[in-house]
Amino acid sequence: MSELLARLQKESKDKAIYRQALDHGLAYLDSLADRPAFPPATALEALHSLDEGLPDGPCETSAILRLLHEIGAPAAVAQGGGRYFGFVNGGVIPAALAARLLADVWDQNAALNIMSPIAAKLEALCETWLVDLLDLPKGSAAGFVSGTSTASLCGLLAGRNAILRRQGWDVGQRGLFGAPSIRLIMSEAVHGSVFKALAILGIGEAQIEVVAADDQGRFDARQLPQLDETSLLILQAGNVNSAAFDDFATICTAAERVEAWVHVDGAFGLWARACQATAHLTTGIELADSWSVDAHKTLNSPYDCGIVFCRDRLTLLQALQATGSYLQFSEERDGMLYTPEMSRRARGIELWALLKALGRAGVDELVAQLCARARQFAEELARRRFRILNDVVFNQVLVACEKPELTRATLSAIQSSGECWCGGSEWRGEPVIRISVCSWATTEADVKRSVAAFSAARSQAISMI
Ligand SMILES: *Cc1c(COP(=O)(O)O)cnc(C)c1O
Repeated sequence: MSELLARLQKESKDKAIYRQALDHGLAYLDSLADRPAFPPATALEALHSLDEGLPDGPCETSAILRLLHEIGAPAAVAQGGGRYFGFVNGGVIPAALAARLLADVWDQNAALNIMSPIAAKLEALCETWLVDLLDLPKGSAAGFVSGTSTASLCGLLAGRNAILRRQGWDVGQRGLFGAPSIRLIMSEAVHGSVFKALAILGIGEAQIEVVAADDQGRFDARQLPQLDETSLLILQAGNVNSAAFDDFATICTAAERVEAWVHVDGAFGLWARACQATAHLTTGIELADSWSVDAHKTLNSPYDCGIVFCRDRLTLLQALQATGSYLQFSEERDGMLYTPEMSRRARGIELWALLKALGRAGVDELVAQLCARARQFAEELARRRFRILNDVVFNQVLVACEKPELTRATLSAIQSSGECWCGGSEWRGEPVIRISVCSWATTEADVKRSVAAFSAARSQAISMI
């Protein structure tokens, strides 16, 4: 037997490396509450010690795991630690992480039911549960993908094809060249990922009609152009900076009248619909045709987990097949029919575990708590004379100091403090500090400590500029 094969057999049999990996992982979890919200400079410098050419020969697995633990873990970002407010990166619900660990051991391919009946079963359940939880039209289809970028791509793809089909053009058969034109209507405040989707979908700048956003970053419904059956609209449940929600009732009603297609980017905001206190923000969203959402944001599933929903199951299925004209359904749900990929991680496993662990009431409480912490942030920062620039309707808070230079310098001091971590953005022409409360682990005390870090950072910034 070759040396390599002997090693693989030994590692697989005695399982010491798995125990070691789990021990390192548990040590990481133990350190989360106290570790800096962002790796210190020394941890980043130590990453250079990983630089080497491709190894010619083998390396002992326990040494590799030790390297990851000693060099890798200190350079990991403490997203789950309660004081990380960057981007809209969520924490992780323990039950989902545990189920993920188990599912990783199973290493299932969720492409076909026949490849993994358990993955197919749990995806099917997640589809039904999520349509119920998010109160989307009964029978809506769900595709489980890596994130909202891909989910939006799928929703817009379905919309593009549906619009062309109504005009007598079957994209699956005739392709895009020479196809009738479509109108893409969106607000200036759309997320950057939309542009990537449009580039892939063959929709060019000349086909895009950009509508102004209002002072909260909402699609300004008063400026909605005359729609027709060739219109494809993109709305947002949760502006990526302010978390403002578009006026779905007005816009979707206008779209419905002329059979325009509406896709909603609800990456983190669609979850507002699963919480009694915030559901009103999404009124009318059920009138749209497709929706995208991330479980790895507000819902706190492990990365990566995005979902596309489509009211018309057949349109999504047809859009994602190589041939659009004919489809043969199997008795069971085959996940790959709903996604661009064939081989795919079985995301439904940990998503199912998360939904089962929390239930409807738990999701309601999770979302409500994120919003409460965001409001606490806004109130305590305002008391310390920071300016809050958005209406805090959900989990996002936009903060500024008296002057742009001071905002920038304060943000930089916050980021290097390790006390908490926020990103920056631009809001209505001025730099802002962008707080996204997105982890169940953020407590009132975490917010207080972070607010203190904001004050200290501002003092430091004042002394420096
Ligand atoms: C995060 C985000 C996206 C992109 O989602 P990914 O999961 O990173 O692909 C799109 N739109 C909005 C509003 C987002 O917040």
